[in-house]
Amino acid sequence: MVISRIDLRGSLPGDLRDVLPRAELDVEAALEKVRPICEDVRHRGVAAVRELTARFDGVELESTRVPAAAIEDALNGLDPRVREALEESIRRARLVHRDQRRTDVTTRVVPGGTVTERWVPVERVGLYVPGGRAVYPSSVVMNVVPAQEAGVPSLAVTSPAQAEFGGLPHPLILAACGLLGVEEVYAVGGAQAVAMFAYGTEECPRATMVTGPGNIYVAAAKRLLKGVIGIDSEAGPTEIAILADDSADPVHVAADLISQAEHDVIAAAVLVTDSLALAEAVEKELPEQVNATRHRERITEALSGRQSGIVLVSSIDDGIEVVNAYAAEHLEIQTADAHAVAARVRNAGAIFIGPYSPVSLGDYLAGSNHVLPTGGCACHSSGLSVQTFLRGIHVVDYSREALAAAAAHVCALADAEDLPAHGAAIRARFGWEIPS
Ligand code: NAD
Repeated sequence: MVISRIDLRGSLPGDLRDVLPRAELDVEAALEKVRPICEDVRHRGVAAVRELTARFDGVELESTRVPAAAIEDALNGLDPRVREALEESIRRARLVHRDQRRTDVTTRVVPGGTVTERWVPVERVGLYVPGGRAVYPSSVVMNVVPAQEAGVPSLAVTSPAQAEFGGLPHPLILAACGLLGVEEVYAVGGAQAVAMFAYGTEECPRATMVTGPGNIYVAAAKRLLKGVIGIDSEAGPTEIAILADDSADPVHVAADLISQAEHDVIAAAVLVTDSLALAEAVEKELPEQVNATRHRERITEALSGRQSGIVLVSSIDDGIEVVNAYAAEHLEIQTADAHAVAARVRNAGAIFIGPYSPVSLGDYLAGSNHVLPTGGCACHSSGLSVQTFLRGIHVVDYSREALAAAAAHVCALADAEDLPAHGAAIRARFGWEIPS
């Protein structure tokens, strides 16, 4: 197993993004594949969803909706150890997401004139939980908890039908839904699931928004149908970047890189360090640990891919520039002064500080959300949160006197924009005069 090395000691290149490792995800090509899928669901509703599920998941669905009894059975069959862990994961996520709730704020702009920002949850949300290669009950928690804490009134979960579980989503996903009190669950995956929420079918009312991570077809369908339905960011294949100096333990660094490479053959694992000794120790440690782990083939492919690598820099200052340019989904800081370094990071989906905050903790139990922006989107987007499910509505409330005091300015700006009817709408209220 060989992880590539990128040597940026000396001066950093002008645009770092050109030299940093990154997966090339051809969402454009996937768009052409998912367009007919989405059109089919739009025109033929549930019949199309059933046919597509037979084609892509090998399951003949009687109904796309999962019966309540199946959720109950899954909950009853849940391993008590996993149940306890999921309950603790939910408890911690609730603590963090509850604190994200927003309160309405009223600003008194002038005497008699106020603007209130009212936070209102979206009406109905479809939450996508991936279920192709791996099973993600943790993603049920990460999607559902913020939506619930935001007060979304109608909430449905969907996850691919699995032939080996009688055409239902994986029992762990159903059990997680049961623990969270989610009753509306569908056995539909891929682009057809996004289209089902966007257009609605005979069995699933249309939703206002769809969120959640997924593979390239899910990402492409979200991009295609954005506008028909609201979406969160495109959370694609996972990424970890670690900024470390010679104080870091190479065994921990290697283990953390491997932990995220385990997700997907196109997952990215990047170490940025100013220590040649650490780089060499990690290069030595990686194959040893990979050989001892279960998904070694998938991990080897991910670590050897062009999206992964070890970036050598002259100093931690340069390292901070590199990680800011990379804008990783997950960024670990394993340096002597980790808090001070972390404070200088501007672009990351989530930051994990010091030797005892590994990304695996964040995947399951830190209380933070694990649905995070990938592919560099962390420079403009945030992970899933209560805010994702809220809209801020400005409520404008002016008295006659407050409008009169603003009238001349409104009319001046309306004239300047050559929109005289705008000014007239003010003057009409004052006998067609601009009040003095
Ligand atoms: P998935 O549920 O996203 O996709 C499975 C579905 O893809 C199937 O149901 C099928 O309908 C559809 N599909 C498969 N092949 C197709 C084809 N050729 N044409 C059209 N549709 C097809 O599950 P997955 O594939 O395991 O992918 C999950 C992804 O989510 C991984 O890349 C993982 O890294 C990512 N993930 C990201 C986060 C995050 O927060 N960023 C969290 C968890 C998972």
